[in-house]
Amino acid sequence: MSSLLPEGALPRIVKRRDPRALPHLDHLLVVMPASPSRSTWDMVPGGEALAAAARRRKQTKAGSVFTLHLDAPCPVTVAMADPKGTPFSWLTLARKAAAEIRKHRPAKAGICTAGADAGIAAAWLEAGLSGLLAAEGEMPRFRSKDDASQSRLSTITVLDDAPGLDLARIRAEAEGNHLARWLAALPPNMLHAAAYRGLIKELADAEGWEMSFLGEKDLAKLGAGAFLAVAQGNAHRDAGIVRLRYRPRGAHAGMQPLALVGKGICFDTGGTNLKPFRSMLDMQEDMQGSSVALGTLLALSRVGFEQPVDCWLAITENRIGSTAYTSRDVVTAVNGVTIEVIHTDAEGRMILADTLALAAREKPALMIDYATLTGACVAALTHRYSGVFGNRPAVLERAMTAGRACGERVWSFPLDEDFDEPLESRVADVLQCSLDNDGDHILAARFLQRFIPDELPWLHVDLAAGHNKGGLAHVPTPQTGFGVRLTLAMLLDHELVKAAGEQAP
Ligand SMILES: [Zn+2]
Repeated sequence: MSSLLPEGALPRIVKRRDPRALPHLDHLLVVMPASPSRSTWDMVPGGEALAAAARRRKQTKAGSVFTLHLDAPCPVTVAMADPKGTPFSWLTLARKAAAEIRKHRPAKAGICTAGADAGIAAAWLEAGLSGLLAAEGEMPRFRSKDDASQSRLSTITVLDDAPGLDLARIRAEAEGNHLARWLAALPPNMLHAAAYRGLIKELADAEGWEMSFLGEKDLAKLGAGAFLAVAQGNAHRDAGIVRLRYRPRGAHAGMQPLALVGKGICFDTGGTNLKPFRSMLDMQEDMQGSSVALGTLLALSRVGFEQPVDCWLAITENRIGSTAYTSRDVVTAVNGVTIEVIHTDAEGRMILADTLALAAREKPALMIDYATLTGACVAALTHRYSGVFGNRPAVLERAMTAGRACGERVWSFPLDEDFDEPLESRVADVLQCSLDNDGDHILAARFLQRFIPDELPWLHVDLAAGHNKGGLAHVPTPQTGFGVRLTLAMLLDHELVKAAGEQAP
């Protein structure tokens, strides 16, 4: 591969120009309510045959997906949804339907709904399109004899009227999510720190973002001892913090940017406190916080988000070796806070400490960070939800509302001051983590809070749902890219920046 960026574009989405004519299609997806009435079937091309097939196969419950090979207009996949269901349930149904359709390898697919009122129909179309696009996002493969000739979906035609459906946003979000997943799935010998930086430069040039980089020497001058403690075990001196600037047309100097911060551990061995084999196996994915921040920036950029955004990506490996940091090391972060190291596998909070402190100096309107940070968050929520933490209750509430509404679900945890007790150090300002794992997701967030001034609204997303076997919601791969869709919902539908500005600390 000459470039490490995803290959191939996602399908185009178009709306039918002539509402009376059915365009030529290779496959049609119909989303309809469970136990459809006769009149609902009558709205669907081939409705009579489909109704008979549904009865015969006893496929009329919510969650049912089946395909009938009709000659006219084309093979049809029916997906039955519960109108009272959650957006998550509709996206899950869309994943199932998209997997079914992909078996048939159509080039031109259509999507329509039947028997749902306008608001629900729009949500079902959005879910269906998101599912189809997510299924088409190819993942990295390196087989010497690959079947590259397989046809791919090139166009999806929306057959409903659906005036409010934002096709540009649906596609931008799918592209951002695909980038986040693709990068997380790249092998660690390919996506090492230097290659990652090169890829980001390529993307920044293509998207018109300004890019700067703080390498290890720059970070040493700044006194970013927490980040450098983690990087010092690497074989190469190419770790650092990338900063990207997205400035929309019309943005003026007085507008405070939004800051997106991501943990980018290209491979996490655990360091001196080495991980056992199974825990280490997928640790190339420990950079997914950074790829979610990057994917979010891509999606925001492509929808023409009206506010300026800065994206800070903390990129390094966490390695073993004679130069690697160890327990009981004491290091000083860029804001002067001294940290007593306890466990070298708690490296994420170390690199985020300096990155958050540096990003905070720019006084963003709101800071959101993403990290595959703690096993404790997975223990609390499984891989189905991610955890959210922050210093503004209104922001946390909106994050949870946005998560329910968009199907990337998050749950909020407490951050009371007394959680500092287990982090008291005898020699430094703070312990990196406690000796046991009790509430480590909360302690990690409490640790990070030391690097963020109280006056700065902050949301921390611990990506427990970054990896889920079999996929999650509409996403079919174990790497979920969780966070891109959530952030778009928070920013575009739930005015998170505004909520952050309204509430005093
Ligand atoms: Zn780790």
